[in-house]
Amino acid sequence: MDRPVPPDCTPESLGFEAALAQVLRTVRPLPGAETLALTDALGRVLAAPLIATMDLQPWPNSAMDGYAFAFADLDTALGAGLELVGTALAGHPFTGRLGRGQCVRILTGAVLPDGADTVAMQEDVTRADGRVRLQRALPVGANVRAPGEDVRAGQTVLPAGSRLGPAQIALAAALGQGTVAVHRRPRVALFTSGDELTPLGRPLGPGAIYDSNRYLLRAMLQELGAEVVDLGIVADDPAAVRGAFAAARAQADVVISSGGVSVGDADYVRDVFAEFGDIHFWRIAMKPGRPLAFGRLGESWFFGLPGNPLSTAVTFHEFVRPALRLLEGETPAPPLRLQLPLLGPLHKVPGRLDFQRGIVGPGPDGRLGVRSAGPQGSHVMSSLAAANCLIVLPAASGDLPAGATVTVELLPWPGTPPRDMP
Ligand code: AMP
Ligand code: MG
Repeated sequence: MDRPVPPDCTPESLGFEAALAQVLRTVRPLPGAETLALTDALGRVLAAPLIATMDLQPWPNSAMDGYAFAFADLDTALGAGLELVGTALAGHPFTGRLGRGQCVRILTGAVLPDGADTVAMQEDVTRADGRVRLQRALPVGANVRAPGEDVRAGQTVLPAGSRLGPAQIALAAALGQGTVAVHRRPRVALFTSGDELTPLGRPLGPGAIYDSNRYLLRAMLQELGAEVVDLGIVADDPAAVRGAFAAARAQADVVISSGGVSVGDADYVRDVFAEFGDIHFWRIAMKPGRPLAFGRLGESWFFGLPGNPLSTAVTFHEFVRPALRLLEGETPAPPLRLQLPLLGPLHKVPGRLDFQRGIVGPGPDGRLGVRSAGPQGSHVMSSLAAANCLIVLPAASGDLPAGATVTVELLPWPGTPPRDMP
């Protein structure tokens, strides 16, 4: 006997994983690279591996303020003491060579003098009569940073496909690389659709709302380094939607729309898109975000996101973000998911994979856990702003008690929980 289909899992629904796999299988990195000054490269993706052309550290140097000497003189250093013959400062090496029984005052980052192989910390010596006496034994090479200890010349320090954050930029700079070859930024055209949508700066008419999704999408795209072509608000009218697709197709690598992909009377985006391109339309068994269109529009890729703000945010995060990272030439890893205990109960209706907005933070005992960021309706903007993670609950899951272990995916933007939150 056939089992009844749960109301939220209609037969045309596609599994989340299957839909994501299809997107990631289809999308290819965009051609084209450019060479940028390192100072302009934050957030960009390397088009070629970064290969070290020098050792890091380039010279043996001191990790401490202290005294450089030859380890062969350890007994003298511990006994009669070493003769102090000069000073080595960062950028001002000691030019002579150490003889037997000699040492040099050395400061952090200064090159180790010829003949020295070990540094005694200044806290471990006493100085009297021009002699430096070591108070305790230390191993050979102590407090010395060896050349190539960090990176060796010829080593690939960042593979092609790496995204450049502050740490990667610092690494390139330490290796003397003033420019980097990066993939070009994708141009993403974007429009929102709906007769109720009002641009900022105008008073709201009856039944109208402000068009928050365009700002949400712009911000998420900017954060990914995309160049945004904002086509504004498009009316619920097939001719207007047709015009938007024609304009978008002419100037973008990716086209993103929000709204109008449901099956309501005023939802034209899906049908009009079908006139232009190759469409996959999915009713994905996920919450929020069920309707999602994906397809090819000439040479561009198209994502038709649902209009509910939370659905827009979650489908962008789960589908568009990894796809854009691929287009940008990045080698994206699957999102880092953590298993954390719930700090309070969660409500969940069985039937669909649920991405609830959550806040990761310490619980009453100081250990890390996760709690709900507030009401979970797909129109609730305040819980999205409060959240720093998505709590990913499997389709079959129902309500969950405090203490249950859940899967959490950190969001790449800040969560700003209200101060009066428990
Ligand atoms: P739709 O997907 O067009 O059926 O819209 C679903 C819901 O999301 C409706 O309540 C819309 O008013 C709302 N919505 C659609 N587009 C936007 C937008 N750009 N900004 C804020 N809310 C929107
Ligand atoms: Mg609409």
